[in-house]
Amino acid sequence: MQESMRFSYRWLAWLCLSLMLWTAVAESTHNHPNNTESASCSICVVAHSTTPAASSHQGQPVFATIGLLQEEEVVAKARISVSELGIRGPPAV
Ligand SMILES: [Zn+2]
Repeated sequence: MQESMRFSYRWLAWLCLSLMLWTAVAESTHNHPNNTESASCSICVVAHSTTPAASSHQGQPVFATIGLLQEEEVVAKARISVSELGIRGPPAV
């Protein structure tokens, strides 16, 4: 059961990838015999439209303090006991 599900997911993934690849190839390589068809083609209209320019209304950057970093010391408390090291004591005579 799991093998067939795994196979179907893999096949579906390859199908989606191939469709995406073919769509990208078709969009980038298509052409039109005349300009009237390219004017009505949504791909060509989007490709040849002007890109919006980034605009900023703020001329000067604004520097303002939003907080103050307060450091706090962190000390790790380490304790190693003899039994945790696996060392046994000297033999008793
Ligand atoms: Zn086109």
